[in-house]
Amino acid sequence: MRWTRTLLNTLRENPQDAEINSHKLLIRAGLARKLSGGLYTFMPLGLRSLQKIITIVREEMNRAEAQEILMPALQPAELWERSGRLQTMGPGMFKLKDRTGRLMTLGPTHEEVVTELLAAEINSYRQLPCTVYQIQTKFRDEIRPRFGLMRAKEFIMKDAYSFDTTMEQADTSYRAMYDAYVRIFKRCGLDACPVEADTGDIGGQWSHEFMVLADSGEDGVIDCPACGYAANQEKAERFIAKKTPAPCPANEEIATPAIKTIDQLAAFLKCQPAEFIKTMIYLADEQPVAVLIPGDRELNEHKLKQMLGAKTLTMADDTVIQCVTGATVGFAGPVNLTTRIYADTALENATNLIAGANKTDLHIRNVDLKRDAQITAYEDLVIVREGDCCPRCQKKLEMKRGIEVGHVFKLGTKYSQSFDAKYLNEHGESLEMVMGCYGIGVTRTLQAVIEQSNDKDGIIWPITVAPFAVTILNLDPSNEHVNNVVAQLEQELANKHLDVFIDDRTERPGVKFKDADLIGCPVRVVVGARGLTSNTIEVKQRGSHEAIATTVEGAAECIIGLASKLFEQHQPSTQVTKPSQKHY
Ligand code: ATP
Ligand code: MG
Repeated sequence: MRWTRTLLNTLRENPQDAEINSHKLLIRAGLARKLSGGLYTFMPLGLRSLQKIITIVREEMNRAEAQEILMPALQPAELWERSGRLQTMGPGMFKLKDRTGRLMTLGPTHEEVVTELLAAEINSYRQLPCTVYQIQTKFRDEIRPRFGLMRAKEFIMKDAYSFDTTMEQADTSYRAMYDAYVRIFKRCGLDACPVEADTGDIGGQWSHEFMVLADSGEDGVIDCPACGYAANQEKAERFIAKKTPAPCPANEEIATPAIKTIDQLAAFLKCQPAEFIKTMIYLADEQPVAVLIPGDRELNEHKLKQMLGAKTLTMADDTVIQCVTGATVGFAGPVNLTTRIYADTALENATNLIAGANKTDLHIRNVDLKRDAQITAYEDLVIVREGDCCPRCQKKLEMKRGIEVGHVFKLGTKYSQSFDAKYLNEHGESLEMVMGCYGIGVTRTLQAVIEQSNDKDGIIWPITVAPFAVTILNLDPSNEHVNNVVAQLEQELANKHLDVFIDDRTERPGVKFKDADLIGCPVRVVVGARGLTSNTIEVKQRGSHEAIATTVEGAAECIIGLASKLFEQHQPSTQVTKPSQKHY
């Protein structure tokens, strides 16, 4: 392919709305163009990379014996009512009406459609296990579409769904997808690590996210360098050493007029935030509960919701808080509170704490939770942070940022129940199928590759997903001899299945070198009249500082050798590591 015949414009300036490197480079290298917030057109070079990623995904899904199908993006909303997700996913879904007034949705994901489909198609255990997948456009009305393809309103996802007879068989299907994901990301040149994750709105038993570590990542990743435990911050647990209770004097009320926040209190009483109990009132499935955490920590609502097994969890409003505590907002505490109280594990056996008195403008000193309050249960309820202890090996945890490129869930029977997806076992009994679901953000993966692999000059593509493996800079496109050498080389490389992009513009060499670095194809070849006078062609790997000078006759072999070496780097090993999940 020649530049002069390609719809390709590189830009010197960063787009105004681009905050992260990969978004800037995506646009500057002419790979994609924005239509409007969260909506992008793939330009010829961007589409080539996207198609290479799709090919890798498809090959690995097929290798894992998943079967490709294609479901409609437009779905009747009734399906979502049946699973209960029309409410829970609500504003995140694009909804529209057809001409008869029937409510439809543009699919943000396909659990409902696929379960309805397989419920009709599968009758017998002989048809199981069965995993299907599709590579298709998804639609999500994101609150804040940003970072280019990373958080778009319309994006391409590979979504797969497994159907099994038993929980054990479902574990095998989960494992097959997990292993396929490890191979896919490796082949895409991405360093993606699997971490334990929350199951969120999708529900189910357990899950892993595949995270690409990057400072610009929107997710917090908790990692234990000592034992390899890794989890999304939403899900991460921590080890708390059991305390021996210290003696505690009697309660003492202290006047704290109009002082409501922990920081104000700490300043007023000259104490550390950790010496306070933060008391919060929530409504779990409309019933009030009190939650206690150390004053210097943040509550993890996901953990609380999961621990309570609640369908809905909302912070109580001022009226409920007054009703539950008898005081205005800001003075809730565990002493004499009659509602259910859940406390963070760090508060077990803790004494000499300060808490709200459930009386306006008063707090209590010398609180001993065991003595002074009725705690329903102690649980790990806070957001884990750097320096907390690993739940597995008790060493110090670290905190990193990550981009979620893939997500695997073991769903269990949540959707098979809603859609009556049953099969007959060998004894003729009708049983619910056990499901798993598995997503890869294909377009997000493309940008994650750029985010992980670039330098100040531009993108450094892994050869497996580069728009072209090789770019040839023709420095003298009006010179027939140079053109002949370039054409001959292109043919020799094409014979070895290497795709080649030729910069045949009548631009200065400096411009061509700059653009080659920006677009970032892994092997750069320079052919010019001056070099040819000494029978020399220059070959250079993007990102390396040294160029190789080869003869015209030896150029193809040199390039093929370098390209093969680069392809080898992205070959997945046959050994895959075990998921960091306690179920394995
Ligand atoms: P996030 O937490 O980033 O919003 P999610 O957990 O809602 O993502 P899933 O439902 O797990 O996403 O979807 C599977 C994959 O689809 C994600 O791992 C991610 O790679 C991709 N994805 C999700 N939302 C978007 C989006 N708005 N734009 C691009 N890719 C997305
Ligand atoms: Mg997810």
